[in-house]
Amino acid sequence: MKGFAMLAPNEVGFLKKDAPVLAPGDALVRPLAVSPCTSDIHTVYEGAIGERHDMILGHEAVGVVVEVGAAVRDFRPGDRVIVPAITPDWGAERSQAGFPMHSGGMLAGWKFSNFKDGVFAEQFHVNDADANLARLPEWLKPEHAVMLCDMATTGLHGAEMAEIGFGDSVVVIGIGAVGLMALQGAARRGAGHIYAVGTRPKSVEVAKHFGANTIISYKDGSIAEQILKLTDNRGVDRVIIAGGTVDTIAEAVEMVKPGGIISNVNYFSGSDTITIPRPEWGAGMAHKQIRGGLTPGGRRRMEHLLDMIAAGRLEVAPLVTHVFHGMDHLPEALELMRNKPADLIKPVVIIAEE
Ligand code: NAD
Ligand code: ZN
Repeated sequence: MKGFAMLAPNEVGFLKKDAPVLAPGDALVRPLAVSPCTSDIHTVYEGAIGERHDMILGHEAVGVVVEVGAAVRDFRPGDRVIVPAITPDWGAERSQAGFPMHSGGMLAGWKFSNFKDGVFAEQFHVNDADANLARLPEWLKPEHAVMLCDMATTGLHGAEMAEIGFGDSVVVIGIGAVGLMALQGAARRGAGHIYAVGTRPKSVEVAKHFGANTIISYKDGSIAEQILKLTDNRGVDRVIIAGGTVDTIAEAVEMVKPGGIISNVNYFSGSDTITIPRPEWGAGMAHKQIRGGLTPGGRRRMEHLLDMIAAGRLEVAPLVTHVFHGMDHLPEALELMRNKPADLIKPVVIIAEE
């Protein structure tokens, strides 16, 4: 089968591999729609997960089941499915502890394009199919459904970890697809004033549509200084980080109030250490919590997101700004994610129209 892969650090291209082999609980899926992720860029061009060779990229896909192992109960060949980016081993100790994304080791619930071949292929392997696949409903287009696999679940996780309460002031740093979903999540949880930090015109437009009250740009100087100025030095109750650098944590510590929560879903690359400013952290006693997490995945999470869309409480369509048709456009779509033109939020590649 054909796949679009990281051939080596800084090098991508198409290659051929044997179709994956199934264990009794697994499924083989062929994609209908896929989307490249900023994480694919961190992986290929920033060495964020270390060296990988000939690893098929991609972890956001909806598709059609081709084959199932003998132990799979709920899915059959021909079923249309949503495949979450995070596909935990549900029997693992960390899953039982409530952290399925770390089943089998830290971040190891993220298997596609990390510990095994990803979804940018003619076919791909899904472990624990009954617990990791969700049915793709007729009423949702594949190019929109593919926003649930990673973008919606991750952004909402940012809002969940931040424990936003009614009236809390919130800063969302980074308004790519993940930050925009975090922003929508913050609004849904009853946030008060929402400050969005971003520059791309399309992202700014969608941020306002999802409920941002004030837009600021990190290109206009320190984010913390801007927020402190706007809040008469009081700061904000919650900060969600969905973009930025290792220095963004320090800025978040500066702008969050004592007792506040910083929730990070950004994938930091570029340095082995992250610095926390001592005075702004109350010399360690400010009750300023710093949290960070890989998104939950699995079937139930996808079904809950579907229920939110069906109930009119989650909107994903505005994220999709570019749609390509055919697997051959994967390199172009990935390049878009790397260069982030002004009109981009997320590109989707339709692999099969049916
Ligand atoms: P994106 O690149 O589209 O958005 C990030 C935004 O941050 C961009 O708009 C960029 O302009 C902005 N930004 C860059 N530097 C900044 C700075 N110094 N200060 C403030 N903002 C800055 O990416 P995305 O697809 O929305 O993903 C966001 C992050 O989430 C990425 O790092 C991605 O790898 C990560 N991610 C994490 C998970 C998870 O499970 N935790 C899942 C998916 C993606
Ligand atoms: Zn991703």
